[in-house]
Amino acid sequence: MTEKGTVFSQNVKQVAFDVEHQKRMMSRYDFFMSVAEDCANHYANIELEKSRAFNIRNKAFKNYDKLLVDFETNIVNNGGIVRWARDAEEAKQLVYDILDDEKAKNVVKTKSTVAEEIGLMSYLEMKKIKVTETDTGDFICYQYNERPSDVTHSAAHKSRKEISETFTEKFGVKEDLSAKQLMIVTRKVLNDKYLNADATITGADFIVADTGDIVMSENEGNVLKTMSLANVQIVLAGIDKLIPSVDDLSVLLPLSSLYEVTKIKAKSIYTLLSGPAKEECDRNKKLYVVLIDNRRSYLMEKEVQRKIFTCIECGACHSVCPVFNTVGGHVYDSAFPGPVGAIVSLSECYENSAHLSTLCASCHQCEEYCPMNIKISDLILQNRIDIIKEDRSLVGEKNVFNFILNRVENRKDMDNKPFFKNFELKQLLKKTWGTHREIPVFAEKSFSQLWREIYGSEE
Ligand code: SF4
Repeated sequence: MTEKGTVFSQNVKQVAFDVEHQKRMMSRYDFFMSVAEDCANHYANIELEKSRAFNIRNKAFKNYDKLLVDFETNIVNNGGIVRWARDAEEAKQLVYDILDDEKAKNVVKTKSTVAEEIGLMSYLEMKKIKVTETDTGDFICYQYNERPSDVTHSAAHKSRKEISETFTEKFGVKEDLSAKQLMIVTRKVLNDKYLNADATITGADFIVADTGDIVMSENEGNVLKTMSLANVQIVLAGIDKLIPSVDDLSVLLPLSSLYEVTKIKAKSIYTLLSGPAKEECDRNKKLYVVLIDNRRSYLMEKEVQRKIFTCIECGACHSVCPVFNTVGGHVYDSAFPGPVGAIVSLSECYENSAHLSTLCASCHQCEEYCPMNIKISDLILQNRIDIIKEDRSLVGEKNVFNFILNRVENRKDMDNKPFFKNFELKQLLKKTWGTHREIPVFAEKSFSQLWREIYGSEE
């Protein structure tokens, strides 16, 4: 197993048997299931709408190169400045250079998976630029120096009590605050940061080729606040965020908030940004868009797996996946945890992410609820096939499978005494089976022994 794979196994063991963690994950699952049916009922034909949405995005892959240039031309015509980054290092350097040129020292940031992916926060901190996260869930995670555990419920792994204790320690507030009180403390801390920000960094839900629009969603108002107050705005967008036309939003936006079912629709505020503000009072405003590849083009060449880029990051697959609900988001150690992460991470580094493709039980639950109709478990299966085909499976795994194959092909070995077979099985599984469950034991007689006893031959 690779080093990352070994750390992953240890983390899984810890978290999978943490009863409190399991309770928190299951309450999220129960809540999702209690509202999921009702969400779909808002559509006369939800399956038709899902197919339309999937086709819009899947079709865009065919002429991505042209659409990206269209987007660049349009946003430049609107007054924006575009920068292209081949990989994470280039993207971080570009963002730093922009902030340095603009003499920005205090930066506010909104939730951005791609910023997480390239490790932007720690890079800028190293360069002595103070960045404050303004998404409440992510803000909580950063108090623990942790990455968000999920794309939609970043701090779902933390209890209110834990968060309250940390807020008391960090901000000197009263102990045992309610969820509402914790939210008020967060707002107070952040308001000061908005007012003193020189620049903002935001993500993008979509970038639109035919108009040059950037689409951002939120449920807290923090995106609008950050954009309104600072003079310099940097938008980070993976090149996979591209959609052909602004008309496509009428299909995509309702689906992207389909399951965002707190009492209000969570992604209830959508902003379409077409360029820097043009009013006289805003004449100093600048808009930079950093378009990031970071091996997306590598995954886009894979005809099956590239379909994952139709994902709109609604988080439904996380809510229903039995594997994710057992291990939580942190064990994936990726900006894209869960089923989607198992596919996307393969584009980052084969050796360090192949183990994530084992995190699927092929139950197809995620597909039932995916608003984009992505056949996620098929894509994970294709990952596994590629790993074997490209001979990248791990040495330990190969040995185990060769051993099993050998046993199956030489059935006489299965007639050995159960004592020997049990011993062998224990040796084989001793590192992976864990201590929380019993290894099954062989029956006294093998199937062929029983058959011979009954029928007298092997025929
Ligand atoms: S098919 Fe795999 S990824 Fe999808 S919900 Fe089931 S276990 Fe999770």
